Amino acid sequence: MTRQFDIAIVGGGVIGLSLARALTSSGAAIALFDAGAIIPPATSAAAGMLAPSFESSDAGPALGEPLYHFGARALSLWPDYAAALEAETGVNVDFRGDGTLGLAFSDDEVKSLSEQAAQVTARGGDAVLIDGGEARKMEPALSPDTAAALWAPQDAQVDPRRLLIALRAAVKKKVVQHIPEKVARIDVGPEGVSCTTQSGATFVADKVVLAGGAVSGLASSEIVFPVKGDALAVEIEDGALTRVIRGPGAYLCPKAGGRVVIGASEARGRTDRDVDDAVIAALKESAAQAVPMLADAGELERWTGLRPGTPDGAPILGEAGERVYLALGHYRNGVLHAPAAAADLAALIVDGARHADLESFNPSRFSAPVTAAAHHG
Ligand SMILES: Cc1cc2nc3c(=O)[nH]c(=O)nc-3n(C[C@H](O)[C@H](O)[C@H](O)COP(=O)(O)OP(=O)(O)OC[C@H]3O[C@@H](n4cnc5c(N)ncnc54)[C@H](O)[C@@H]3O)c2cc1C
Repeated sequence: MTRQFDIAIVGGGVIGLSLARALTSSGAAIALFDAGAIIPPATSAAAGMLAPSFESSDAGPALGEPLYHFGARALSLWPDYAAALEAETGVNVDFRGDGTLGLAFSDDEVKSLSEQAAQVTARGGDAVLIDGGEARKMEPALSPDTAAALWAPQDAQVDPRRLLIALRAAVKKKVVQHIPEKVARIDVGPEGVSCTTQSGATFVADKVVLAGGAVSGLASSEIVFPVKGDALAVEIEDGALTRVIRGPGAYLCPKAGGRVVIGASEARGRTDRDVDDAVIAALKESAAQAVPMLADAGELERWTGLRPGTPDGAPILGEAGERVYLALGHYRNGVLHAPAAAADLAALIVDGARHADLESFNPSRFSAPVTAAAHHG
């Protein structure tokens, strides 16, 4: 078995690409396998919110707190990460650090946002409940029915499609060999890991990282499963909305050029790529409840994506047996997590240095993380 690479990464979404970029500074010879042509990355379907203030409640009580702190640390890395990527590649990733407004229209919704503000504050974050009038001063396009809003000034957003372009360009510039094929099988032996692609070619590396998202065929479907999300984009006058708005039933993310991404549904276990008209209609209705001018906005595009969900709502990061590492299960937060997940895994793989945040997300909390196709021989 002759080793061609130090590290093989299976998956070229935001997680695999950001890890490849982080690893290149070690001088390792890296192969990046990506089946994007047949398995579209969730990353290109994402809205790009970097919002730990709103996104740690999916994890159960045990992991909600570590998930919040990991997301908050990742968020703190984002301004420099975006600037460095942009300087390296010339691609503007449309990073915006201008906060999130979560809206409430009913007493129950106000109560729930007030509890959320208390939780974020108790965890060391910044979130305050403001009244509807104050929210409308910040975003005049909001509905006059807005009763209150949770203002999370530190939350941010990025454009995930631009991010993919930038990361691909960054990785291409470095010495990463891009292999545009699906890895069908991984065999781990004493001398290395062989990755066999669907076309039958075999490549041998010292270590392998599985970062194939929701439906890679290599991670057990017990621990990583698809959570399908439909979303759409509409066009409004550029600048009519500036911040991420999260209303009941839909969020709105204003991007460059007057494009507003509206998302997203959640359907666990579905792997089809059909966009459901009824879901899109419901998202449009919820969006117009939050920002009435959206009722007349022209639709630009609709799409679907498969988020990599996990049983406890938290990612799976770290070793899974000798030579095998997992970078999976980022569910609703893969774009947010990418800079921290990449840095922590690169340190673990290259130096054996384990960031404390990784403890909570260790693959060992599951009994059989990989499938028979990724087996230790
Ligand atoms: C509608 C929607 C909205 C979202 N909004 C946000 C948001 O606002 N903020 C946020 O942080 N996250 C958001 N997410 C979640 C985010 O998109 C995911 O967590 C993230 O993209 C996961 O990245 P990944 O690299 O793990 O997987 P992916 O992006 O799915 O990439 C996996 C890649 O691996 C390749 N691959 C799979 N199997 C193999 C194989 N066997 N061999 C070779 N290649 C393989 C695939 O082709 C693909 O290119 C959203 C997701 C959806 C669907």
